Order: sequence, then C-alpha cells, then structure tokens
Amino acid sequence: MDFSVPSDWEDLLRTVRAFAMERVDSIWKRIEEEDEIPADVLKAAGELGLFGLTVPEQYGGLGLPLLARTLVYRELGRAHNGFVSIIGSHCGIGVTSIVAMGTEEQKRRFLPKLASGEWISSFALTEPRAGSDASAIATTAVRKGDRWILSGTKHFITNAKIAQVFTVFAVTDKSKGSHGISAFIVPRDSKGFSISRFQPVMGLRGSHVAELVFEDCEIPAENLLGEEGQGYSTALRTLTQGRVGIAGRCVGAMERCIELSIDYAKQRKQFGQPIAEFQLIQAYLAEMAAEAAAARILTLEAAWLIDQGKPARREAAAAKLIATETYGRVVDKAVQIHGGMGYCADTQVEHFYRDARITRIYEGTSEIQKLIIARDLLGA
Ligand SMILES: Cc1cc2nc3c(=O)[nH]c(=O)nc-3n(C[C@H](O)[C@H](O)[C@H](O)COP(=O)(O)OP(=O)(O)OC[C@H]3O[C@@H](n4cnc5c(N)ncnc54)[C@H](O)[C@@H]3O)c2cc1C
Repeated sequence: MDFSVPSDWEDLLRTVRAFAMERVDSIWKRIEEEDEIPADVLKAAGELGLFGLTVPEQYGGLGLPLLARTLVYRELGRAHNGFVSIIGSHCGIGVTSIVAMGTEEQKRRFLPKLASGEWISSFALTEPRAGSDASAIATTAVRKGDRWILSGTKHFITNAKIAQVFTVFAVTDKSKGSHGISAFIVPRDSKGFSISRFQPVMGLRGSHVAELVFEDCEIPAENLLGEEGQGYSTALRTLTQGRVGIAGRCVGAMERCIELSIDYAKQRKQFGQPIAEFQLIQAYLAEMAAEAAAARILTLEAAWLIDQGKPARREAAAAKLIATETYGRVVDKAVQIHGGMGYCADTQVEHFYRDARITRIYEGTSEIQKLIIARDLLGA
C-alpha cells in the first residue's frame, strides 16, 4: 500500500486546508446562528473546484482518484461539518451516479455545471418507510410515451434547498424486487416536483434536509440513468465510495477536535496549573490521537484498494464504521476536556459533538456496516 501523495495533490491539499480554515472554520459561529452557508463561500468553493472532485477532467472537474478525494474530505472535515455535508453529498453520492451510469449526452448536459458548482446535486433514495432497507422504496416511475411519471415521497434529502439536479430512485417493475428499481435525473423545475417541508435536525447547520414530493412528476424519457432495473446496484456502488468519503471527513473532524482540545488544555488553569499538566487529561489526548490515527489508516487503505480496482466493500464499510464510531468517542472526550464550556454553544467542539452523531446513521448506519462486513466474512 502506498499513501504517498504526488506534489500536485500536496498543493491542492494545502489550498483546501487554507480555504477550509480561512473561509469556513473562521465563520463557524455565524453558520451556527444563521443556519446557512453564505453564498460567497459556496461560490468560492466552486471556483476552487470543490464541486468537481468526482467529475472527470473532460467535463470540467478535477477527476480525482478516491485516495486524493479522501484526503481533500479530511481537510474539509476540519471545518464546519454542515458545509462539508453539502460538498460530500454533492460530490460523493450526488454526482458519482451520473459519472458512473450517465450516457455521453447526460454527462455533457449535467456534469460541467455540476463540476463548477453552478448546479448542485442531491441524492434521493430514502423514504419515510424505507431507510436501511432501501430495496423497500415505494416511489414509482411509469413510462408514458416519451416521458417518465414519478409518484411518491422521499425524506431526509441533503442539499434539497439548493440543488438543481436530483438523482431519484424509483420502482419501475415491482415484480422484480430490488432489480426493479431504476435511477432518474430529476431537474428541480420538473412539473409535479416539490419540497413539502424542511426537517429540523440536531446538527449540520447550514446543510438542510427536506421531504420531496413527486405528484405525477414528469421527466423526459432520456433522464433514465443507466438501464432500467440497475438503480439499486448503482445506489449501492455509489454508497460504497461515499462511505469512504464520510470516513475521511470524520478523520479531519477528529484531528480538529484534538487541536482545539490541546489549545484549551494548555490555556485553562485549575488547581494553579494548566489542565494539560494533569495526567488524566493527557491520557484523554493520547487516546484521542491514537484512535484517530487508526481510523485514518483504515480509511486511506479502503480508498487505496478501491483506486486499485480491488473489491473493497468490506473495507469501505469497516472504514465508515470505525471512523464514525471513533469520531463519537473523540469528540466526547473533546467536550470533557472543555468541561462546562464544552457543553456551551459559544465553544466550537459543541457543534462538532452534535455534527458527529449523524455520521453513524447516514449513508448506512453502523449496524448496516456490521452486516456488510459479516456477510463478506461469511461469504454470504
Ligand atoms: C441529516 C440527514 C441527512 C440525510 N441525507 C440523505 C440523503 O441525502 N439522501 C438519502 O437518500 N438519504 C439521506 N438520509 C437518510 C439516511 O441515509 C437514513 O436515515 C439511514 O439510511 C437510516 O435509515 P432510517 O433513518 O430509516 O433508519 P432505519 O432503517 O429505520 O433504522 C432504525 C434502526 O434500526 C437499525 N436496523 C435497521 N435494519 C437493521 C438490520 N437489518 N439489522 C440490525 N439493525 C437494523 C438501524 O441500524 C437503526 O439503528 C439522511 C438522514 C439524515 C438524518
């Protein structure tokens, strides 16, 4: 395994870190208070190429391999996680299904604008009655002449507020179970498409999730993505890479929480000395650093294997499982080191604590990652 980074990636990672710290981390409090990522920050992210991480160069993106993307997500993960969720959903699960399954015409129509950030994408799989069991979705798509008619409801859809392009999964042949699910590209202005409500959540301020409604929603026949019946396998493949991306974001967030905790422990005095001099606090810091390092290696290994074209579903699941669970423990200790201030919204680790919680749930819960790993071990 080789995690060494070519010099052009190093330049990119330096630039991304500077952007993450100067443009996003520096305004974390404003994002928390306004529940919005400022438009100029999204625009600047687009100019840097952050919306085109997964788009091949010929369509205007950076076309980075997964290892490079994971390192970029790690840098972004150091900043406000609401911002990172927008980029991660767009590049990870939103755009990659078009890259993997799109026709040449679809790629030329959608990818350049998605790469620049002029359009933002959203991935709509989950429904009120179909979460972990995504094969149970009830949204239907029926072919009528030169159009598909979609009917149903999706919920918890990230980027719904700002997306122009939605990858939507719907049943085209109920008799075939998961092989009867297809994927569609649904533009925001499609007739019969609406956002019924935004769903208030614990963290990730600035990245909104919403319920989508399709009422006899009409899209052109050519917006079918891939072959009919391939939607479920497309979703699973997309999610495998997305999980490594989430793990990368968690690694960056942990590293930032450790930095914030070290700074606090050095300046906060109790019993006449900085709390960093107490061995119990040092033990927390040591555990945080060791666990974050282990998660980092596992995450990079999964990304590297996928880039080598090796089967890595188990490794991707393990990376997400370990990185997200570790993030939970690390941020919990970060709050503990900050004492009462760690529980106070004036302190940065407080939002990391809330933001960390979702990582064990979305793009496959920890329980589902364990099932994937176990099935692979048992050859099921
Ligand atoms: C902030 C946020 C953003 C999201 N963004 C998106 C998005 O952009 N696009 C999208 O499509 N979805 C999105 N989701 C949905 C997310 O992927 C689902 O919430 C997740 O997959 C879990 O589904 P569920 O919530 O229905 O939980 P359920 O599937 O109902 O699970 C409930 C509990 O049961 C457990 N469980 C379920 N099945 C099993 C089993 N077989 N064995 C053991 N335990 C099991 C789960 O692990 C969990 O602990 C988002 C959710 C949130 C909260």
